Amino acid sequence: MSNTRSEEARQALMGRRQRILRLAAVQAADEELLLSEREPDWADTAAEVRDAAVLDRLVAGERRELAEIDAALGRLQAGAWGVCRACGRPIGRARLRARPEAMVCLACAEHAERRFRLS
Ligand SMILES: [Zn+2]
Repeated sequence: MSNTRSEEARQALMGRRQRILRLAAVQAADEELLLSEREPDWADTAAEVRDAAVLDRLVAGERRELAEIDAALGRLQAGAWGVCRACGRPIGRARLRARPEAMVCLACAEHAERRFRLS
């Protein structure tokens, strides 16, 4: 996994994460959270934010997206980003660019979707 691609993904994920949190903070008029989001270390704020009542105000979709983003940032930090969790093969470059938070490769995602539709 090249460092440039990881770094690009990290920045894209951080940007989306910040947008979601800022939206939630604005909705909650939570000045403290708005200020804490300037803190560049995502791991610290992740723990804070998980406890914050402000998360209750996020709709389910945003909350799930935030969880996916945090998980992807964790994999990036652990050096495990970009590897399919189902088959262990590298996730395609185009898919990662479109969805840096993807946990499975396209083949596994399509396989899971087919199974879901059939059931
Ligand atoms: Zn796979």
